[in-house]
Amino acid sequence: MAGYPRTLTEFEAMFSTEEACRAYLSKLRWPDGFVCPRCQSRASWSTHRDLFACAACGRQVSVIAGTVFQGTRKPLTLWFRAIWWVTTQKTGASALSLQKILGLSSYQTAWTWLHKLRRAMVRPGRDRLSGRVEVDETYVGGEEEGVSGRQTHKKALVVIAAEEDGTRTGRIRMRRIASASRKELHAFVQASVESGSTVHTDGWSPYQGLEALGYTHDVTVVSSQEESASQLLPRVHRVASLLKRWLRGTHQGAVSREHLDYYLDEFTFRFNRRTSRDRGKLFYRLLQQAVAVEPTSYRQMVKHARGRRTGDHKI
Ligand SMILES: [Zn+2]
Repeated sequence: MAGYPRTLTEFEAMFSTEEACRAYLSKLRWPDGFVCPRCQSRASWSTHRDLFACAACGRQVSVIAGTVFQGTRKPLTLWFRAIWWVTTQKTGASALSLQKILGLSSYQTAWTWLHKLRRAMVRPGRDRLSGRVEVDETYVGGEEEGVSGRQTHKKALVVIAAEEDGTRTGRIRMRRIASASRKELHAFVQASVESGSTVHTDGWSPYQGLEALGYTHDVTVVSSQEESASQLLPRVHRVASLLKRWLRGTHQGAVSREHLDYYLDEFTFRFNRRTSRDRGKLFYRLLQQAVAVEPTSYRQMVKHARGRRTGDHKI
């Protein structure tokens, strides 16, 4: 594992030049040395700037091609500063605050960078939750902060899973769903919770049938008027209220339904690492995942968003 900075001073010393950033990315991307994406050969030579040339097939590979940094015109030092800021601030950053901090002239660039980084916040093939897991749904409301002005949308339905860790909450998973149907809830549980685990829900009938999928299903039903769902499933309800507070606070409620999934990923990334004192390790993890996920263009990000497109800018 490559070293990572633990303080701002160390960060500034490590990543003051493009060369240093590129060398770090190539170490993360190819920890055992360069591997040609075309022919898997390990022999290469460096050409100018960030290009590797495969010694076997001649393919030229940029260290940022096929990563979230693909096609960027901005210096990697600026990207690294964005990632440092995003991971060292406990609640993250809104596009507006990131724009100010980095001195970016374009709000759209800050917005797009944050969305690109959110796509790196889900680890491909990550582990599922296990043990005893609470599952329940909640409504999340939102407005779009995006590039085409504010638009109010209807509330979105989000299903949340939270591990019971004694009296505390372990890891979480969440997903936006179209409806609280059996099909969607079962699919979420299967994607998020290891079979053999205990799934703890309320009496909502679409949850029935989880035993047939390999789970132990523990149902707690509201038995009196005094009991509320938040007492029966306290962890998911606490997570839901933290999520809503974060969307209202950090993002000022300015999140559209089209992009909500990625905010859920960011919230989950932060929540599951909330007790980590070592923020530098989060920086390292996010960079590591940023070179492992496929790039997404601004055009792809706004493809499904409503309203006027603002053009195909390179950011
Ligand atoms: Zn090759």
